[in-house]
Amino acid sequence: MVDYIGVERIQSLMSRVGVARLLGGLVQEIEADFLRWGEFEKSARHAIHSAVGVIELMPTSDGKLYAFKYVNGHPKNTAEGLLTVTAFGVLADVNTGYPLLLSEMTYATALRTAATSALAARALARPSCTSMALIGNGAQSEFQAIAFHALLGIRELRLFDVDPRATDKLARNLATQRLADLRLVRCASAAEAARGADIVTTVTADKRNAVILAADSIEPGMHINALGGDCPGKTELHADILRRSDARVFVEFEPQARIEGEIQQLEPAFAVTELCEVLAGRARGRTSREDVTIFDSVGFALEDFSTLRYLHRLNREQGGARHGIDLVPDLADPKDLFSGRTATPERVRA
Ligand code: NAD
Repeated sequence: MVDYIGVERIQSLMSRVGVARLLGGLVQEIEADFLRWGEFEKSARHAIHSAVGVIELMPTSDGKLYAFKYVNGHPKNTAEGLLTVTAFGVLADVNTGYPLLLSEMTYATALRTAATSALAARALARPSCTSMALIGNGAQSEFQAIAFHALLGIRELRLFDVDPRATDKLARNLATQRLADLRLVRCASAAEAARGADIVTTVTADKRNAVILAADSIEPGMHINALGGDCPGKTELHADILRRSDARVFVEFEPQARIEGEIQQLEPAFAVTELCEVLAGRARGRTSREDVTIFDSVGFALEDFSTLRYLHRLNREQGGARHGIDLVPDLADPKDLFSGRTATPERVRA
């Protein structure tokens, strides 16, 4: 049997373990893999675009385990009652090629994205940040809010979305988390949300080169966590922000970021630093309190690999071996696929 984490199971893991604790565990798991960056087989993800969205495959391996994620991005979907982003993924054993885990990854993507954002902000933002603008209050936003509250010490969230119902929903959901020390400030524009914030997170969905943050909204010392621009022709920052003389731009995997990130707007020689270099101490993050640090995130396969391995372990620790799926035949004779006789019927039934 292959371990299986469906939507119900991940929701139950989130409520048993707690989202903040789960995010803390994921940060450690993802950081550990970023620190052994050289051991991974890496490629820009495979993307098939249509006029309305994209479907992507994201594989990677460290030679022992292999993982891939299927993920879509369809900003028009919410108007039809569907999610913008859905995903599922597989963790497999390189030695046999057998899948170990089949998992939903719509929730897992929101968790891993928030964990990666927090990891990057911890390395790049000024110490003692207390306020964050959260621009785009859709499906990802609660996960970002909880991660930055729990892991970065954010105590004021400045919210903006062009859809006020999305902000209502975010405020409602955060109220259920009883974060008594978290103050929510609703803002009338992205510029108002960014004003005075230590960190600005942009997590909007629109399949075009949008200007969510204008150049004059940026203040010295800010950290920008730019997540929503994650495929060709889809960006959030005005290019002048990236070109500021005090700006330092950080990416996950440069070959993919050049195609999909905010830096697709710039010339190919524009200097960026991979996050792994900062985490490993081989490159500097911010060089002064006044630097504007920009995490130009598009989401990289390694983050999903770490997440699947973490969920595989967590699921088993929480009694999840019972949640198997018969994805691969377990045969009495591996050359006799046709008759389909099982090797260990009792194990298959278990
Ligand atoms: P969503 O559709 O649930 O939410 C997006 C929100 O952005 C909506 O509430 C929408 O009203 C708002 N919005 C759109 N245009 C806006 C504007 N001009 N100003 C303010 N708000 C605006 O989508 P989601 O699942 O929250 O994802 C958001 C984006 O993040 C998507 O583009 C997705 O592809 C991207 N994403 C990136 C990563 C990553 O690793 N970098 C991971 C997951 C999702």
